[in-house]
Amino acid sequence: MTRPNAVCRDLRQWLDYLHGNRRLAVARPDVALEFELAAIAKHLEAEKAVLFPAPGGHEIPVVANLLADRSWVADALGTTEADVVARYRDAVQNPLKPRDAAEAPVQEVVHDEVDLTRMLPIPTHNELDSGAYISAGLFITRNPTTGVQNVSIHRCQISGPDRIGVLLLPRHAHTFARRAEEAGEPLEVAIVIGIDPATVLASQAIVPIDFDEMEIAGALHGRPVDVVKCLTNNVRVPALAEIVLEGRVLADVREPEGPFGEFPQYYGHRADRHVIQIDKITQRRDAIFHTITGGGIEHLLLGGLPREASLVSHLQGIFPEVLDARLSQGGVCRYHLVVQIDKKQPGQAKNILLGAFSGHYDIKQVIVVDDDVNIHDPTDVEWAVATRFQADRDLLIIPDAEGSKLDPSTTDGLGAKMGLDATKPLDADPFDYQRISVPGEAGVSLGRDLQGEDQVQAYVKGIAGEV
Ligand code: MN
Repeated sequence: MTRPNAVCRDLRQWLDYLHGNRRLAVARPDVALEFELAAIAKHLEAEKAVLFPAPGGHEIPVVANLLADRSWVADALGTTEADVVARYRDAVQNPLKPRDAAEAPVQEVVHDEVDLTRMLPIPTHNELDSGAYISAGLFITRNPTTGVQNVSIHRCQISGPDRIGVLLLPRHAHTFARRAEEAGEPLEVAIVIGIDPATVLASQAIVPIDFDEMEIAGALHGRPVDVVKCLTNNVRVPALAEIVLEGRVLADVREPEGPFGEFPQYYGHRADRHVIQIDKITQRRDAIFHTITGGGIEHLLLGGLPREASLVSHLQGIFPEVLDARLSQGGVCRYHLVVQIDKKQPGQAKNILLGAFSGHYDIKQVIVVDDDVNIHDPTDVEWAVATRFQADRDLLIIPDAEGSKLDPSTTDGLGAKMGLDATKPLDADPFDYQRISVPGEAGVSLGRDLQGEDQVQAYVKGIAGEV
């Protein structure tokens, strides 16, 4: 089987692709970086990508809404919506190591003196954000022990001309920062802004520590990602990126960061967080800056699909009966999971619920449904709960588990897990759960079975009489 590959290698190829498909809007020049840019982007978030020339008078344009719909994600990976999760899983299972680039457009221009807001058009997005944020930077770090790289995305607050406040949630970059700190060292980092959507999606995979997410990007492209070493540290970055900030996460330094509008549609709090000293900026001669509006559709989509792929792999490794999984948009593509299974044993759905909670700490609600339920249709899922679930028998509650610190209903991240077994009992009379259907519905052809407009007019006149 030949695998479909990502359609673009860099950001500008993706913009060209979007333009070719009438999905790229261009704003008037000089849109304000504070709120106005995000307002226009948000207004169009489900329809079009938007390019902002000269935002706030800056030379560098900003682009937003690179992914506005699940079908765009499929297009970016060169596949169909039905196959997109499978394609992503395949890439995770067949990673491709990056290779050293012969040329590095991202190092065409080198700034030794760093002044972030003067050099880059950095927007302020939501009303109560503490200020300008880099929200779409791939955060590339190296495990201080093994040297293996990690790619993730973290919100980056502009705290000073060469200083960034960053929220590191307890995953891999956070572990590396702790290890470096224990050794009394800073952690080398590169913040990469402006790259193709497949690479951005790769950064969101839930894979073990020391699994370089850039290898997933290579697999999605069907060719290794060309990388180049940073000029001031040992981090390797995509050579075709638009902008790279080279820096260090400082040991034993914490400064206020936040608030910032986040994916749950609330603000992440202000607190003392890690600090990055930026040492150098490199960029393309005609660089483009990518921003993600906090809590917008692009933010949700980026988190959802890679997690679904990881969760399906995780669950199928234990339960072959698992068919598919979906993180619903109402559950902010993080908290609510629906799992579709081909149930074979009584009680199996409950074991699968337990397995799903261990897939990621963000997950707080899991609904398990049978294979006749469309997990991509929230109404169908609710129907399954309405007709196959009894709370005294099918509800699982696990109190005081680790959850998302960004969920305001938790106690600083400590929260309950809720599992709903909405599968049919195996020993039930099959007729009780026989879904109603009208024979022949799927075979109806409107062209064959309905009359044309002229005949409709004549018919309606015939029953209403001439007026
Ligand atoms: Mn990782």
